[in-house]
Amino acid sequence: MPKTSTELRDWIDTAIGRVEADANRSADTHLHTFALPTPGIDLYLKDESVHPTGSLKHRLARSLFLYALCNGWLRPDSTIIEASSGSTAVSEAHFARLIGLPFVAVMPATTSTEKIALIEFEGGRCHLVDDPSTVYDEARRLARECDGHYMDQFTYAERATDWRGNNNIAESIYAQMAAEPHPIPSWVVVSAGTGGTSATIGRFIRYRRHATRLLVADPENSAFLEGWDTDSSDVVTGVPGRIEGIGRMRVEPSFVGGVVDDMMRVPDAASIATTRWVSARLGRLVGGSTGTNVWAALQIAERMRAEGETGSIVTLLCDSGERYTHTYFDDAWLADRDIDIAPYAAALDSYTATGTLTLP
Ligand SMILES: *Cc1c(COP(=O)(O)O)cnc(C)c1O
Repeated sequence: MPKTSTELRDWIDTAIGRVEADANRSADTHLHTFALPTPGIDLYLKDESVHPTGSLKHRLARSLFLYALCNGWLRPDSTIIEASSGSTAVSEAHFARLIGLPFVAVMPATTSTEKIALIEFEGGRCHLVDDPSTVYDEARRLARECDGHYMDQFTYAERATDWRGNNNIAESIYAQMAAEPHPIPSWVVVSAGTGGTSATIGRFIRYRRHATRLLVADPENSAFLEGWDTDSSDVVTGVPGRIEGIGRMRVEPSFVGGVVDDMMRVPDAASIATTRWVSARLGRLVGGSTGTNVWAALQIAERMRAEGETGSIVTLLCDSGERYTHTYFDDAWLADRDIDIAPYAAALDSYTATGTLTLP
């Protein structure tokens, strides 16, 4: 089909219409209050688990498909390939099916079986590789081999989303905060996988000239923190992380360090202990990166309290814990990996009882 044909243009129009209709059918995600024992500090959780495909990657996949379609990168005979640790693939498989294209996810063999099942449920195919650092090259190779399109979330996440508005995640948060006691959050706390979410929120904060500061929490073995600290993009850790969806072995091209005000290293044991603590307090299971986010948000709350500040903090509930019942919620899985969450769980219990959070 030639690039200039009316037939191709009609196909693109129809595909864009279907992606837009999916957005039109969707409601905004909730902003939950999350009561803290720290006086004067209000914490909010933006619940990204309620998207049709269960995570904040629904936003990213929608943006990436629109970007690819509007750039003329997709055709009726394209196979879509993505390098993904799981959640992006679930959401992209959904949009690929929506526009009638096959989808293949290239991901580490360690990805949870729950996520593989979700990708297949959405109509996608999984291509597993043993060495997680090879997913990008393997995705590129597959795309070349089948004359398909490598979506490349790690390159395009920061530019596919309309950061000025269009009800992106940041605009939605500020609108939902409008009637709260502290409507302009002192801090927004997120973690980074592609870096797309932090890029959108950080740019929006600056563009709207809000006083809010942006903190990115980074798990063990992730390259983002050192890259941000040393202003370099070539940091490589060589060790894969254990908190799915966040923390990368390299500084991904979509990570925009200039919009990040502060970063914090969160031990995996702290992330997982907090994942369980939040799940118990909410009455529903949340994913591992939500634990990372909330742990960092609690440190910020403590810092604010120590400095006599009051105000609000917003963080993200990125996906649901149902995806991780065989990992973060399984004591045997933790024991196999020598992850001891007990000191952090004790610190959180004592925080609940006393309002003071002491690092183990
Ligand atoms: C991708 C992801 C994140 C981080 O979002 P980015 O916009 O890619 O940085 C956090 N949590 C989960 C579960 C994710 O899948």
